[in-house]
Amino acid sequence: MCYKAFIAQKAAFALLLCTLGGLLPQAAMAAGNAPAEASFAAFEATIEKTKDAMMGDPEEALSIALRAVAQAQKLPETKRAQIAKATAGWLHGEALIGVNAPDKAAAIITQALVIAEKTAPNSKLHGDLLRSRGAISAMKGDVLSALRDYQSAYQAFVTSRVARSEAIALQDIGQIYWEAADYDRVLDYLNQSEDAYKGDPALTMTTKNDRAEVYRKLGRYDEAAKEYRAALAMARKLDSPMLETRILTNLAGSEADAGRLQSAQAAANQAMRFADHNDAAGWRPFVFGIGAKVAVLRGDKAQATTLFARAFDGVDPTKSDMLFREYHQSASLLYEQIGDQNKALAHLKAFQRLEAEAQHLTASTASQLMAAQFDFANQKLKISRLKEGQLKRDIEIERQKTSYRTTLFLAIAGAASIVFGLILFGFFQMRKNRNQVRAANDSLTVANCSLEKALQAKTEFLAMTSHEIRTPLNGILGMTQVLLADRNVDTKVRERIEVVNSAGETMRALVDDILDVAKMESGELTIAHEKTNLPEILRETARLWSGQAEAKQIELIIDTDAAPQRIMSDGGRIRQMLFNLMSNALKFTDCGSVTLSVNVENKDGTEYLVMSVADTGIGIARDQHEHIFESFKQVDGGMSRQFGGTGLGLAICQRLATALGGDIVVNSELGKGSTFTIHLQLERYGVDEPATAQNIATGPGLESASLLIVDGNPGNLGMLGMMLAGAAGSVAVASTVDHAVEILGQQTVTHIVFDAGGAGSAHQTQQEFLSQMISAANNANALMSIMIAPGPGMSIADAMTAGASQVIVKPISGDDLIDALQSLYGPSPETFIAPSLDARAA
Ligand code: ADP
Repeated sequence: MCYKAFIAQKAAFALLLCTLGGLLPQAAMAAGNAPAEASFAAFEATIEKTKDAMMGDPEEALSIALRAVAQAQKLPETKRAQIAKATAGWLHGEALIGVNAPDKAAAIITQALVIAEKTAPNSKLHGDLLRSRGAISAMKGDVLSALRDYQSAYQAFVTSRVARSEAIALQDIGQIYWEAADYDRVLDYLNQSEDAYKGDPALTMTTKNDRAEVYRKLGRYDEAAKEYRAALAMARKLDSPMLETRILTNLAGSEADAGRLQSAQAAANQAMRFADHNDAAGWRPFVFGIGAKVAVLRGDKAQATTLFARAFDGVDPTKSDMLFREYHQSASLLYEQIGDQNKALAHLKAFQRLEAEAQHLTASTASQLMAAQFDFANQKLKISRLKEGQLKRDIEIERQKTSYRTTLFLAIAGAASIVFGLILFGFFQMRKNRNQVRAANDSLTVANCSLEKALQAKTEFLAMTSHEIRTPLNGILGMTQVLLADRNVDTKVRERIEVVNSAGETMRALVDDILDVAKMESGELTIAHEKTNLPEILRETARLWSGQAEAKQIELIIDTDAAPQRIMSDGGRIRQMLFNLMSNALKFTDCGSVTLSVNVENKDGTEYLVMSVADTGIGIARDQHEHIFESFKQVDGGMSRQFGGTGLGLAICQRLATALGGDIVVNSELGKGSTFTIHLQLERYGVDEPATAQNIATGPGLESASLLIVDGNPGNLGMLGMMLAGAAGSVAVASTVDHAVEILGQQTVTHIVFDAGGAGSAHQTQQEFLSQMISAANNANALMSIMIAPGPGMSIADAMTAGASQVIVKPISGDDLIDALQSLYGPSPETFIAPSLDARAA
């Protein structure tokens, strides 16, 4: 975890708040002899000085704190002197935190805590030390320890009845949840903090500002504005231009987010007036930043340029801190608009770096907090103990049943009265045992329920973290592709970037698989039942793998003449299964062939769709057949290890096949290749056309694609149509997104080319149109290339994160466009193309 990121977050969240409250507990002030009293008095004077220096000048505070430590060492050995030592240690530690030396601070605070726990447990000093240790843990990214310490500190403050400190500890806890982006909980803690203590205007002001920040995050802008204004009124009372400046900057940002540009501008202007004050000097760059951001939104490029120049004066965009994040984003947009692509790219990179950092912080905090809630190992242990207990009870019951039978036999030989007595005894004994077993079963059920809950939580946890990893990963991959598109990058560096890119791609595949498995486990897997064009899926599968087969010199046989054409199923899932099987077949085969065949079988009057992928590769030993369908399971023969993979592909296939009402089986022997076969019950719609070479053809690329061009500008649309008509199989055109969706419902489209620039309207933004288009493309299983001219409606970053197959930055020549589209069908698809940027860089 990056300390800088932490400090930036902390600074953004908690306004300068003097947390160094009272000092030595009153009980410790017992009168002593005169010279000792003088030493204590001198010590306390130093402590006061340390406190005074702490907020303004941490270096100075550190040197005074060291003096206090030396004075405390010389005090006569009494309990009071011990407390003085711990107090000096605490301030020494706080000063070290202030100069960003958390490791040194940790050692000092731990020592002081040992003394405080012994001599003044649950005192205010004890609580303060716990808070300090919590802050150090938080700086190091150990969120759980931080949370634990903050909670214990809160308890200590409750016991020692220091309401103000209670309120501060509640704010600390809130901050942890802020970092985990759990805003509802932050609100809870801020409210509790306010209820705990209202007597300190600085504290109330902090709470109000922080609550406003939370409302801003939640998009509750009206409430945010109200809280900011209340915080502002308090800052005014405190006569602090610095605090007023900061709150005004926050208010302007929130109003800008809300789209209320006039009010944002007013707040930014006011902040700029305050920023001239010396106290607010350190905050000036952000005041200019927000002024510039509002100017960008108002379309005043000249003012935005001037203000950004001042905001980023002396700031290195490769090292800037978290507080600059939103300004980098807005600056990137501005420079794109005015055509300064170099600056635009530098700010975009800075924004992506900080965004990834922030997401990392949120993901790691959230995952640590979640992990704290479930102790899986413990749950499992409980269950196995219960099971063990049940086994013992079963044996006992059996033993008693046997002894009962023996006794019965003896009793028959004896007196009838004894027999009766024994039967009675045996009956009660058995009933007792049965009750015991029932009780054991009850607790077993309870334990099972909690295990189930824990497993569900684990699944949710997996899904969430995978999702959190995916977002920054997309940023990394986007950036590597930007770099690879730069023809200026020399070969050596390019090779290295390619390694990063390919490792990133592998990681994205793994994360996608984990997300899928998590969804399946939590029952969130949705299966469509819709009209599906099977030949199209088979064509696409063949096309996708032909390059790799050719590269490995493996014959790819596509035997799909007997495949039904019009079926009701989930095309996306069929494609996913075939993709996994084909990927494995090609991965584990070095020579020979891979055959994809699709047939229909008729059993007892029911039709089945049978799809199989056979290879002549390394094969799988029989005793492994069952295991390869388990999650994360790979055949452990050393051989398959060398091929990489995650061990999730077949697990996913099996679950999908089951979800589609069928199954998947393997037939394989070591060294003799493998055949994986999927059986699905077949449901047809309409009547198939006779299979022709054309409708099953394995079209190699763009030339057999069914293209749909969407562009709001009729001139462009006509030109694109003409340009691409000769290159693609067929071309359809649409001038609106609605028309495009209509066409997608009527005819097969395999590739959409969408010019995002011509799409905006008064009612919907370009981005809304883009996401509507992308989801329509996904539904139609079509490739999606978007063309953008970066501008106010959409930046390169927006386009790259939207989820299209390819982003093309205009202007681009006709030939380059065709090459770009064609690349999606080749072995190394280009997902980001920007000829104008390349030319500029060259
Ligand atoms: P992955 O391929 O990512 O490791 P899978 O679940 O797809 O995960 O496969 C699990 C294991 O089954 C593979 O690691 C491999 O050992 C074995 N396997 C799967 N398909 C084949 C195949 N066609 N030939 C040989 N072994 C295979």
